[in-house]
Amino acid sequence: MAESGRAASAWAFEPLDRPWLDVAGEPVQFPVARVWCVGRNYAAHAREMGGGPTAGQPPAPPFFFLKPSTSLVAGGGAVRYPPATSLLHHEVEFVVALAGGGRNIPPGTALDHVFGYAVGVDLTRRNVQTEAKRAGRPWSMAKGFDGSAPCSAIAPSAVIGHPVSGRITAAVNGEIRQDGDLSEQIWSVAQVVARLSELVELLPGDLLFTGTPAGVGPLGPGDQLDAAIEGVGRLAVRIMPAA
Ligand code: MN
Repeated sequence: MAESGRAASAWAFEPLDRPWLDVAGEPVQFPVARVWCVGRNYAAHAREMGGGPTAGQPPAPPFFFLKPSTSLVAGGGAVRYPPATSLLHHEVEFVVALAGGGRNIPPGTALDHVFGYAVGVDLTRRNVQTEAKRAGRPWSMAKGFDGSAPCSAIAPSAVIGHPVSGRITAAVNGEIRQDGDLSEQIWSVAQVVARLSELVELLPGDLLFTGTPAGVGPLGPGDQLDAAIEGVGRLAVRIMPAA
């Protein structure tokens, strides 16, 4: 990636540690590069957000946004209710973890770059996103806040294969709120990887949150969120009081 040819000889200060995720069943960690997210990849969720494919029309190409890798919460657990938030929403998502990368990857070979899959939650400041949409502003502060990307350990594709179906759920305090299936995704993993690689060079360590099924809803301090994807894993998050 780095084409400048320069290597640091001395850091001005100690660099931050690289974010990482556990690998399920293996004593290694997955070093995270970037966290890409797909918008509106399930028709039912697109409809609940006031958009989505029109009957008889082909779906629009997938669109992307980013969370900083520092927003990851590896393995879930306690997440503090974020500041400047009047409406915090859960979005359970199927996460793709890349061990390879490149530009202009064809859909037919895209899965060769996948290391494995995980269960993630795209925590969203919905009030901030609604205002950003209205004002035509970026989504960064709605999507990229501290703690906004809890993610499970990665299940290696060498073990679980490349799931194209499987129940994806999110429960709040034991009550199922989101209940979909990976087969409902508008754009497949291969199509999403291929499309994103036309826009940026994908790197080993990149994560892709691939969108959420219908049923997104509010979270508050004290709530327990249990997310799961059949054949992939599960993730538990407890929302803690704001600082
Ligand atoms: Mn999302």
